[in-house]
Amino acid sequence: ATPMSIIAGVGRAAELGVLVRDADALQRASRIDTLVFDKTGTLTAGAPQLDEVLTWRDWSRDAVVQAAAALERNASHPLAQAIVAAAGAASSGEIAQFRTIRGKGVSGILDGKALLLGNAALMQDNAVDLQQAQPDIERLSRQGATPVLLAQAGELIGLITLRDRLRPESKAALARLRQAGYRLMMLTGDREETARAIAQEAGIDEVIAGVLPEAKAQTIAALQQQGRRVAMVGDGINDAPALAQADVGIAMGGGSDVAVETAPITLMRADLNSVADALALASATLRNIR
Ligand code: ADP
Ligand code: MG
Repeated sequence: ATPMSIIAGVGRAAELGVLVRDADALQRASRIDTLVFDKTGTLTAGAPQLDEVLTWRDWSRDAVVQAAAALERNASHPLAQAIVAAAGAASSGEIAQFRTIRGKGVSGILDGKALLLGNAALMQDNAVDLQQAQPDIERLSRQGATPVLLAQAGELIGLITLRDRLRPESKAALARLRQAGYRLMMLTGDREETARAIAQEAGIDEVIAGVLPEAKAQTIAALQQQGRRVAMVGDGINDAPALAQADVGIAMGGGSDVAVETAPITLMRADLNSVADALALASATLRNIR
């Protein structure tokens, strides 16, 4: 290999808005065959909007949203930001004993009420009966929405629906990558039905859902053990170990600093076309050398 042309390739990538840490990263990028995408903030805009709110046990819609927002003011997840934004400026009280349950949700005490907020797995872990909400959970998930559940003292009191949109360029950029022959996969902590609905809209066939943050890197390692050469594209703190495990980690511009520090390739813009640009450039650069 002529190092000069690889260095030129790194420079050319920068012109396209792709920061490649070193020549080796470009070489590895030229050999990958599988692309794994995080869902929230990578394939989607990462700015979910509040939609339907359902309540039980005499809780009003407003009381459910305010209680959820009081909890989420302590959290940093994109879902948390959406719930806080939807609740507006009204202060909804201080939370005692706030806890984050990674990849599942949050908990805490508001005005003496023990609250639990998060996904169905979190509710099941805490023996909250979801039977009455199950048809709605399934209906909303199949539409690609994320249902966030609120329980008080072990009983379901609310369901808050959040909808995230695909990035405007996702479909076209993924079509380009598929055309280039890459195997495309989605890796997410969200539930299976929600993930599948969004994957289908984006044009991704393979979905690995319900994966806890710490298991994302193991999922990448398992693909590598099958002989796949994997690039992981992600934006979040949660994604950092998977970005590090992949043959090439690609951090979305505007994502978390941790993701950017971990990944050998960083996209200056949050634009999936840059992934296709970067991989095409890597292949072209290395093809000229061989
Ligand atoms: P993702 O792959 O979407 O980044 P995460 O591992 O961050 O997934 O979260 C997985 C799931 O856990 C979310 O889809 C959501 O249902 C739930 N969850 C995580 N954090 C929160 C939170 N702060 N509030 C509500 N739900 C949460
Ligand atoms: Mg993400």
